[in-house]
Amino acid sequence: MNIIFYIILFIMGITFGSFYTLAVYRIPKRIDIVHTHSYCPNCNHKLGFLDLIPVFSYIFLRGKCRYCKEKIRPRYFILEILSGIFFVLTALCMGMRIETLTIYQAIDFAFVILFYTFVILMAGIDKEEININQPVLMYGVLVSVIYMAYLYIIEESSIYRYVIYLVIYVIILAIETISLRKKAQTNYFYGNLLTIIILSIFIGATAFIITIISTIVTVIAYKILDKLINKRRNVVKEKEKLTTKIPVGFLLGTYGLLTFLLTLFCNRYLL
Ligand SMILES: [Zn+2]
Repeated sequence: MNIIFYIILFIMGITFGSFYTLAVYRIPKRIDIVHTHSYCPNCNHKLGFLDLIPVFSYIFLRGKCRYCKEKIRPRYFILEILSGIFFVLTALCMGMRIETLTIYQAIDFAFVILFYTFVILMAGIDKEEININQPVLMYGVLVSVIYMAYLYIIEESSIYRYVIYLVIYVIILAIETISLRKKAQTNYFYGNLLTIIILSIFIGATAFIITIISTIVTVIAYKILDKLINKRRNVVKEKEKLTTKIPVGFLLGTYGLLTFLLTLFCNRYLL
């Protein structure tokens, strides 16, 4: 019985994975993510129902568009599979079994999925554009506020922690709105700052600290590599320097998700 439950979770995971790849592609281009029909980016042919089944359509079509035979980038397929595996691993580490499933477990799992959705969309768009997408960020803030309200209700604990978070949100959003008016462009720094706060609410202290340290180490490594490459190329003029922009949000999101799953795993099986 339990195996069927996990197969359903896996299918749910690949379906979300399919939505993630679509949303990461469409949101920055401001294409409607719900009403616009899916199409092949090469021949613009509308995709039929069978072409839209995640993972399986890729296998049956052997990684090619049914209409123009253009190769489909395998990363869509890989992301869908990974997303399915991630859902199953999360449920396993949360100790979810169909026989003993409680409403609280189900709600916790739903929040985790809403959180994954924020992190994956934010990180995916940041990796492509070096930009923390504003609507995605607002979605993340909203989910974390609802989550804090839920925690407050079921734990009946001190409200101060959540009030502090809310105040921080309001301050950062206010500063960002003011700086936005001056530059007319989303501020990368504030975007990442808000992302860090959202992560800190969901992933727990240990995972949070590891995420921050790993991100800082990676950024420093990037910078050193950049310097070395420029030295080797003997670049004299400042403007000829190769400077790779670092997707900080992508790093935060990737490390955040991995350490979150790792701490779930350790709490369940090792401690
Ligand atoms: Zn095509």
